[in-house]
Amino acid sequence: DSSVETLEFQAETRQLLRLVIHSIYSNKDIFLRELISNASDALDKLRLESLTDSSLTEVGTADLHIALEADQDARTLTVRDNGIGMSRDDLVDLIGTIAKSGTAGLMEKIKQSKDAATAESLIGQFGVGFYSAFMVGDKVTLLTRRAGADTGTRWESDGEGAYTIQSVDDLPVGTSVTVHLKSADSEDDLADYLSESKIRQIVKRYSDFIRWPIRMATERSDTDGTAAPAVDTLNSMKALWARPRAEVTQEEYNEFYKQLSQDWLDPAETIHMRAEGTFEYEALLFLPSQAPFDLFSQETKRGVQLYVKRVFIMDDCEALMPNYLRFVKGVVDAHDLSLNISREILQQDRQISGVRRRLVKKVLGAIKTMQANDGERYTKLWAQFGRALKEGLIEDTDNTEALLEVVSAASTNDPEKTTTLREYVERMKDGQEAIYYLTGETRATVENSPHMEALAAKGYEVLILTDPVDEVWADRVPAFDGHPLQSIAKGQVDLDEPAEGERSAEQAQREEDYAALLPWLTTTLSEHVKQVRLSSRLTTSAACIVGDAHDMTPTLEKMYRAMGQ
Ligand code: ADP
Ligand code: MG
Repeated sequence: DSSVETLEFQAETRQLLRLVIHSIYSNKDIFLRELISNASDALDKLRLESLTDSSLTEVGTADLHIALEADQDARTLTVRDNGIGMSRDDLVDLIGTIAKSGTAGLMEKIKQSKDAATAESLIGQFGVGFYSAFMVGDKVTLLTRRAGADTGTRWESDGEGAYTIQSVDDLPVGTSVTVHLKSADSEDDLADYLSESKIRQIVKRYSDFIRWPIRMATERSDTDGTAAPAVDTLNSMKALWARPRAEVTQEEYNEFYKQLSQDWLDPAETIHMRAEGTFEYEALLFLPSQAPFDLFSQETKRGVQLYVKRVFIMDDCEALMPNYLRFVKGVVDAHDLSLNISREILQQDRQISGVRRRLVKKVLGAIKTMQANDGERYTKLWAQFGRALKEGLIEDTDNTEALLEVVSAASTNDPEKTTTLREYVERMKDGQEAIYYLTGETRATVENSPHMEALAAKGYEVLILTDPVDEVWADRVPAFDGHPLQSIAKGQVDLDEPAEGERSAEQAQREEDYAALLPWLTTTLSEHVKQVRLSSRLTTSAACIVGDAHDMTPTLEKMYRAMGQ
């Protein structure tokens, strides 16, 4: 029976179509990504079914692929696959209806949303998939035959209210979706979607790692100048992250990294992991060898990309990596997300924040391991990214412990070498409770500070912190390994000064000698200091300025002033 039947779209589908057609999406290119992703799923399904269903053995699975065909005269672009195909009922169920729960409520919210961005993000929860073809097409024709079925079906719609459906003989197994491009639009020229370079560009961006070949007939100039038809595979298919770790060489990782990051150096570290269970994903992350020049500029982007089943979704995915790890490059490929998921939705997704937590732990763990096993490589990494990592001590209090383990800093112990906090603690003198530090602009200013004298006299080591960010974290982080971090420029540094009652005769004498001077100094300097005290801190300098325990240090004051605050 080949009579044409006309069916109505389900009401909600119609509403969704209307939204899609009146382009809630700013980026029309994604229609091709959606159609290729469906074709890829269909190929996956056929291969899987053919393993268990012996009746499918006649269906060829040797050359599973996706073919793109642009017809300039007809203004059509066709995406063809030799995958599982659809039966008539499948078509009505899958394409004619949106049988997903919560659709009605979602549509209501979309209608009420005030701007395109909100609508887009709402729809991202849902995924418009196949319907995105109507963003660029005023008619879509679909020919399909289910593997194992005798006849095929032709489906066609203008995306308004209805579609036609009709049986067709002699169709190959699989599906072809033909998009009839809308006639020349005033804003964008949709004929662009028929140009080889545009198609190549979209496939490269969104579908490069699709595991099936995406082929297109191209005109290639031969050496003698005549054009010869040829078939090109447009995608690389090399999704390294999807391969077992044991099968990938470091060479391949390095090449992939360079392509991804456009860096010319090998990465300092490669992290490849796979998570199974309720939320499956693969992650392939790299720590670069060298910091980009714009690591501390406002515009710097995060280096992690999100894929969903090998389809590129977005760059600079802030939901997957905190700001202080913005230098980490790589790919996360999640299996169960909508292709249209928006940044806003990702930020709120509990599973995604679980992934992020896990990735952060992996990265910090890798740095710790590097520090333990390859000190030289760690030192280089720290020199490049230490300043960014220290921001984590302010931003990411969940990982304070892990971050403190990898921090290193200059110290009075060795002018040539930095120290970790762990090493500092191991060198602490008997009876020393605190980890002492002093912040300043340069090593020299810190070393020559009068605050150093008493500690040097006692033989206590002092960390020399000269990054502006040091001020902030060292002040916030309470302790490392049970030892408080203590600025020697603030409050009372307790160096077993005699307690009130048991002051020495010498000290009492000194206080008497200066009894008149101190109040006079306090009044005279009142615009600049709160109080003038006698101190046992100094051994050679005559005086020094000390902050209150909770005051800003001078460097921090300067930093804030420089920022205009
Ligand atoms: P999703 O891919 O998220 O399920 P789509 O709107 O993209 O949503 O597609 C809806 C359904 O239509 C798919 O789940 C699939 O069952 C079916 N479908 C779409 N394209 C194809 C195709 N090329 N081959 C087989 N089935 C397809
Ligand atoms: Mg889809």
